Amino acid sequence: MLPSYTRLPMAEQSALMARIVERCRPVPGQPVPVVVFDLDGTLMDNRPRTEVILKELAHELRVEAHSAAESLAAARAEELAYLLGDSLRRLGVEHPELMTRAESFWKSRFFSDAYLKHDVAIAGATTFARACYDAGAVLVYFTGRDLPLMGLGSFGSLRDLGFPIGIVGTELVLKPDAAIPDEQFKRAEGPKISRIGKIVAAFDNEPGNCNAFLEIAPDSDVVFVDTQHLPGAPDLHGRVHVVGDFRMG
Ligand SMILES: [Mg+2]
Repeated sequence: MLPSYTRLPMAEQSALMARIVERCRPVPGQPVPVVVFDLDGTLMDNRPRTEVILKELAHELRVEAHSAAESLAAARAEELAYLLGDSLRRLGVEHPELMTRAESFWKSRFFSDAYLKHDVAIAGATTFARACYDAGAVLVYFTGRDLPLMGLGSFGSLRDLGFPIGIVGTELVLKPDAAIPDEQFKRAEGPKISRIGKIVAAFDNEPGNCNAFLEIAPDSDVVFVDTQHLPGAPDLHGRVHVVGDFRMG
């Protein structure tokens, strides 16, 4: 069971978002404001990506007249869990051999450029990112996705969903190697963001990453986007704001 978090009421969420946009306005003589956004589970809901992949596997199983084909075909993005194994169990797929097959089928597609086009933006994310950019901040998309397998697809997905990307004042930062644990990567690379400017806000759906940002940028607004996260995450620091999406009211 995942811990539950208390989200800010909408009026307070609106006020927080408006305050962050204000912090994005450059002040002469001071470092450029930077806003850091994680991608998966933060700006984007990646569950539609998994839904498409499970339906492709269902198609394969149908051809083989496999009895689990229809269970997999019933996958719905909004009912998927963070871990594939949990999602499969919810769909009634428990046979070890099929679970292993599904895991490797899913893995080779989920972590690849070609499937990132199925992701959708979290409510309000595009408008909010644009507001931060228009106010004058540099946007850093700082993701645990890796450059070799997911870099080009991530760029294309940001572009197609309408996020500022490929223009002055935006950066897409990915892991050089998929094997590096996300939090380790963010703790090592996060401080280097100071070469661009000063972090005024950071958004992430992993409690560990949010806590890391508070250490890296103690006077920034760190915002936990309460979507889904890795089971077994540490407690969220009390100074981290909790929201369910990016709506500004
Ligand atoms: Mg994430």
